[in-house]
Amino acid sequence: MFDSHVHAGPDVLDRIGDDIAVAEAFALADFSGFVLKAHYESTVGRANSAARLTGQKVYGGIALNQHCGGINPSAVAATLSSGGRVIWMPTADAHTQHTADLPRLCHQEPRLAPHSYAIPPVDTRTTQATETVLALIADHDAVLATGHLSGAECNWLSDRARFYGIRRVLFTHPSYTVPGLDPSAIRSLVERGGYAEITTYQLLHQPGCTPAMLARAAEAAGHRLILSSDAGQPNSPPPPEALLLLIDTLASEGLDRSWLEAAASTTPAGLFTPA
Ligand SMILES: [Zn+2]
Repeated sequence: MFDSHVHAGPDVLDRIGDDIAVAEAFALADFSGFVLKAHYESTVGRANSAARLTGQKVYGGIALNQHCGGINPSAVAATLSSGGRVIWMPTADAHTQHTADLPRLCHQEPRLAPHSYAIPPVDTRTTQATETVLALIADHDAVLATGHLSGAECNWLSDRARFYGIRRVLFTHPSYTVPGLDPSAIRSLVERGGYAEITTYQLLHQPGCTPAMLARAAEAAGHRLILSSDAGQPNSPPPPEALLLLIDTLASEGLDRSWLEAAASTTPAGLFTPA
């Protein structure tokens, strides 16, 4: 198994354990590796240390939020030049997150002026910077993850990713509250390339989310499905257990278990592992 989305400490929020504790839990559960995500820090160095210590494949990257000024090509160049495998478009500071009133660093630290980030077609002022980011991702054969951006922005990214020859596109939990896409929108995205993610976090914490709803999203993604835990919260199961729980839940909805297992192992490992 390979968990392509997990959070660990240190972080601006409490986490279930630090990088090493989480890496050891994955090793103990016989996972081949995982992707370490943080909303407010590059995880490249941390992933490298966890990989060295446990012998797993551990990948990191950066999410383009307020700590790096949003869509910041310099942050992307530095991250990818030092071995980062993934660039997440704005997550906690995406404009969608602001509209949905979900947690952000500026809520924790009132002295920060809140900034929300958007890309075309929502905000064309960021066109130039976003295009540079995409060119860098293509050069490094890294993963473009759509973060919490809206469906319209995911569509724009999908088109521009093709233009730049980006081979690895991950639509970040499209059925989550943000961006909140329905199965037909998910299907139309993956039909043009890329993978669509479903997470255990959705199952456990998304208001209104049901196993049946996630099953419909999974069917829409088809062989372009990726399952990840997005765990690491103190009130979620340990990440390896969380990912297995998602597989079991979707299998109970009548979905094929071997397809689900591939979506939590070979499919994401192939997406993130460098050629
Ligand atoms: Zn996450």
